[in-house]
Amino acid sequence: MNIRRLCIVLGDQLDPASSLFDDFEPQHDVLWMAEVREEATHVWSHRARIALFLAAMRHYAEAQRASGRRVHYRRLGEHTAASLAEALAEDLARLEPAEVVWVEPGDWRVAESLRTLAARDTRPWSLRQDRHFLVGTADFQRWATGRKELRMEHFYRWIRQRAGVLMQDGKPVGGRWNFDAENRESFDARGPGLLPAPLGFAPDALTREVLEEVAAAYPAHPGELAPFDWPVTPVQAEAALEDFIRRRLPEFGRYQDAMWQGEPWLYHARLAAAMNLKLISPARVIAAAEAAWQDGQAPLPAVEGFIRQVLGWREYVRGIYHLRMPAFLDANALDADAPLPAFYWTGETDMACLRDALGQTLKYGYAHHIQRLMVTGLFALLLGVRPREVHAWYLAVYVDAIEWVELPNTLGMSQYADGGYMTSKPYCASGKYIDRMSNYCAGCRYRPDEAVGETACPFTTLYWDFLLRHEQRFRNHPRAGLQWRSVDRLSDERKGSIVLQAAALKVRWIGAQIAAGGPSPVPADHGAD
Ligand code: FAD
Ligand code: SF4
Repeated sequence: MNIRRLCIVLGDQLDPASSLFDDFEPQHDVLWMAEVREEATHVWSHRARIALFLAAMRHYAEAQRASGRRVHYRRLGEHTAASLAEALAEDLARLEPAEVVWVEPGDWRVAESLRTLAARDTRPWSLRQDRHFLVGTADFQRWATGRKELRMEHFYRWIRQRAGVLMQDGKPVGGRWNFDAENRESFDARGPGLLPAPLGFAPDALTREVLEEVAAAYPAHPGELAPFDWPVTPVQAEAALEDFIRRRLPEFGRYQDAMWQGEPWLYHARLAAAMNLKLISPARVIAAAEAAWQDGQAPLPAVEGFIRQVLGWREYVRGIYHLRMPAFLDANALDADAPLPAFYWTGETDMACLRDALGQTLKYGYAHHIQRLMVTGLFALLLGVRPREVHAWYLAVYVDAIEWVELPNTLGMSQYADGGYMTSKPYCASGKYIDRMSNYCAGCRYRPDEAVGETACPFTTLYWDFLLRHEQRFRNHPRAGLQWRSVDRLSDERKGSIVLQAAALKVRWIGAQIAAGGPSPVPADHGAD
């Protein structure tokens, strides 16, 4: 086979409008794709996450072939190469293309391995921009240069103006940039009522084949496969978007921070995985949301709240990731050194909020933002878990988890491991926050307003313990000082009881792990795969 260009498509680059196709000639050029074990095992990946990648990749290859393009595709069972770079090196030797074309990888790890291969290879490698994003990495760097602080809010205003989204005559529509004040409601005691069930996609024959292979190949990995109904093609991603815009966007803003026992989706979009695989573009998602407001189908606070996530947070964390890697990986500003409690991998705990968030994570590979930030993330922060272990867990268990978006959210936003680069202060709160935003506490054996005693909420105990542990650092902090100075209200005796109770909790959950001197115990299984 005479190949002019071998064009690399990574598992999260399933973009029908990729820059690879700008000058692609089907008679001379070939797409190259490979399923490799390392991508499923470098963290202890949820089985639905593995299945989603493989199903979407196989559908993509099938669609490309149907459009007349040649695809060189390596399935998992058909080769023994352990990594992407190894699989590609073998094929470069065999297929002998004149040139390699690749698009900026999202993950630093993958980019490094391909850069190393390119440096060894004698033929030309041409690197293309990833046009899926509205802000290129060089653009972000320009925006960041010379700024004292890289806050999301500043970035968001800049990109809204530049992209002309929700803008009129150079001003934000509705006269405000931010409708957060309207967007923080919780449900009353009656709960959310009848919720619109999100559109799901029954697995077709190709996806069923993947689900069977994953079940057989990764029996020890966490997560269920039976509920799998994620979009795996651009057509399905578009249908999922339209379903969200019509049936959930109008209430998205109001309840975006709310949680309710047994209700994993509420009014959330369920679009992160489809966007991260590039089955649908953020520009399309943003345009659909803006049009819903213009047509009077959804109120401005809901639409602004949603667009802020996609145009603001999503583009911002990507920029930060590429600015900060690889040092970001080792960030640990609060010197957290506890192992991740084993129950993160099983959901077996008597804390109702964590049981629900972890249970749905293991079932669906999904939890919404506030569950990630203010339940699982908050608990790890308060307990003082090593950020790298928290990161490995988040990267493993969510179907939408890809390092460029997961890592800044985990290490920066949730764990404050970057020492305030992304957020001005740690997102720390007691059980009372969870009580305000959910009905979890009503069904829990613990009481959110108690810090000491038999029924004290572990979040609340650990919250005060966290404030005491980090008092020196934050007492005079301009944004956090007020929260920290609340420890002045505690008597010495009370402080002592809190510290003792926190120590007992740590012995209960992580004592055995600390005694063993090791990291979180579960990856031992992981090594067995
Ligand atoms: P919705 O709540 O409906 O939000 C709409 C869209 O906005 C999402 O699809 C997503 O693309 C975007 N978005 C919202 N918040 C963020 C954010 N903070 N950063 C980037 N994009 C955002 N998101 C991922 O896509 N992959 C991850 O691996 C990931 N890990 C996270 C880890 C932690 C500790 C935290 C706190 C957040 C993480 N997020 C991650 C962000 C957010 O939680 C998910 O994007 C969201 O829950 C996905 O569900 P959804 O599609 O229903 O989103
Ligand atoms: Fe969670 Fe504490 Fe509420 Fe129980 S009481 S659900 S542990 S916040």
